[in-house]
Amino acid sequence: MNFGPTEEQQMVKDMVARFVDDEIKPVAAELDETHRHPQEICRKLGEMGLMGVSVSADYGGAGMDNVTYVMAMIEISRGCASCGVIVSVNNSLYGHPLKTYGNHEQKLKYLTPVAGGQVEGCYALTEAGAGSDAGAVRCRAELKGDKWIVNGVKKFITNGNVANYSVLAANENPEKGYKGMLTLVVDLKNTPGFSVGTIEEKMGILASGTAEMVFEDAEVPAENLLGERGQGFRQMLEGLDAGRIGIGCQACGIGKSVLEDSLQFAKERVQFGKPISSFQAIQWKLADMATELDAAELMLLRAAWLEDNGLNYEKESAQAKMYASDVAMRAAVEGVQIFGGYGYCKDYPAERHMRDAKICQIYEGTNEIQRMVIARKLLGAR
Ligand SMILES: Cc1cc2nc3c(=O)[nH]c(=O)nc-3n(C[C@H](O)[C@H](O)[C@H](O)COP(=O)(O)OP(=O)(O)OC[C@H]3O[C@@H](n4cnc5c(N)ncnc54)[C@H](O)[C@@H]3O)c2cc1C
Repeated sequence: MNFGPTEEQQMVKDMVARFVDDEIKPVAAELDETHRHPQEICRKLGEMGLMGVSVSADYGGAGMDNVTYVMAMIEISRGCASCGVIVSVNNSLYGHPLKTYGNHEQKLKYLTPVAGGQVEGCYALTEAGAGSDAGAVRCRAELKGDKWIVNGVKKFITNGNVANYSVLAANENPEKGYKGMLTLVVDLKNTPGFSVGTIEEKMGILASGTAEMVFEDAEVPAENLLGERGQGFRQMLEGLDAGRIGIGCQACGIGKSVLEDSLQFAKERVQFGKPISSFQAIQWKLADMATELDAAELMLLRAAWLEDNGLNYEKESAQAKMYASDVAMRAAVEGVQIFGGYGYCKDYPAERHMRDAKICQIYEGTNEIQRMVIARKLLGAR
């Protein structure tokens, strides 16, 4: 067993860490305050190959492995959690279904510009009545001639307000339940009948847009079906398996940022004539954070390694996402505590980390749903 990165993996990690320290961390507070989409950062990350890390170079990606993706994603999220989720959606939620089920033409047209980082993609599964119950999708797709006619409203879609392309879960036969589902790839800038609806006001990840997507007799070319009819549910769930590694990394990166800031603050803040880092109560918080974050990182690397080796990683990605997000939330709460009153105010990033960490326990399957996925695997149920 080898716990060390390869030379190439270490090189990428160091390159991303430098970029994060120089160009992302310094603007993270401003992004949080203004809620603006970090387009310039996305384009630069694209140039560095980080919007399609494991996508082949033939389709605009970097052709690297998912272990490298984990290393890069943790670093990016250490700098800014909003940037982290945008990168995660492009790479996995959008990239994975295209990579796995797209034909050559679909990959050329719809994967290449996203993996190359020129534009954003998004993944539209959730609806008002279909959250944890993803098989309850009611967005309707009817094949009429050479077009799918799509009607429905998608809710809470990351990048939904800025993306050029979307993978979209729809149902052709609602009477068949989840077995009627299919996946379409939609060119959002050139689809009559599509519009962006409400953009959510949120608690955290404020530079990442979360939008409603409205389809009213929207016309999607017949050839934009991904894979086969009736396979949409499985395809979307597989996208989530991959996506959960990304969200676990987002959580782990937030936690690392908390630890980094807390260590520095604890050494500088003096009370009772001593730095607060000399108090055992503070030291134990730091030790717990470091230990749990290490464990989370190892779980994420294991899930990515399984994926790289073509092995089933559904349970391991659910475990890693659940554990990493719980660890990040604990770290964020303790981080605010270490900063005391300063942690509660906007002058320091501690309160932002706490707002950002929470979503990792909710999206791409709440942690209750992760436990269901894990238990189902343990019990051998389908
Ligand atoms: C900021 C943000 C970004 C998002 N981005 C995307 C995106 O890009 N694409 C997309 O498709 N979706 C996206 N989502 C949707 C997200 O994945 C869902 O919000 C999430 O899966 C939970 O669904 P829900 O909100 O409907 O909650 P519900 O499913 O209504 O759950 C409410 C509560 O009930 C619990 N619960 C539900 N069912 C069970 C059960 N069987 N057993 C035990 N507990 C249960 C849940 O764990 C939760 O605590 C995003 C959401 C947010 C807030």
